[in-house]
Amino acid sequence: MNPRHNAPASLALVQDLVNTWFGHLSGGADDGLATRADLARFCREHGVDVAEDDVTDDEVALARVVREGVRAALARHDDAGREPVDGEALARLAAVAPDLPLHVGLAGDPAALVPVGGGVRGLLADLLGRAVTAAGDWPRLKVCRHPRCRAAFFDRSRNGSGVWCSMAVCGSDTKKRAFVERRRARSQAG
Ligand SMILES: [Zn+2]
Repeated sequence: MNPRHNAPASLALVQDLVNTWFGHLSGGADDGLATRADLARFCREHGVDVAEDDVTDDEVALARVVREGVRAALARHDDAGREPVDGEALARLAAVAPDLPLHVGLAGDPAALVPVGGGVRGLLADLLGRAVTAAGDWPRLKVCRHPRCRAAFFDRSRNGSGVWCSMAVCGSDTKKRAFVERRRARSQAG
């Protein structure tokens, strides 16, 4: 992905989780959250020291529910009115979110949302809190409109109109398909 689509520090955690899996135009991609080892590595890469043995299969499943729920939430930043929102993914996230509590911490200034738990659950709670604390940056974290990509990217365009993680790859591929479909429709009509 174009590095200018990297999210600011406040949202890097969210972007990185979503992008542990996204489709590639050339066939499927590996899921970066397939195993307990994957999730432990993800936690360590984001400042939470978790050993593989400390991670449960339930937590791997939980992390994937959070990932797809967040992807569905981010998709609304671009897809509004264009593509159906993945309501099932949002509902699954809503069902587990109460198990990922945060409290308001006033030890520092500004106040912070602090995860109640530690380990994997603490990291996931922290991640969900970013949707609130990132404020104006949140709507710019989007999901690529290409149906076979769906990567999270940060839209730095002046007017916030970006829809592709990569114009050169996903944008041009989509335009090519639209062109082919239009030509087919024309030839069928003629
Ligand atoms: Zn893309």
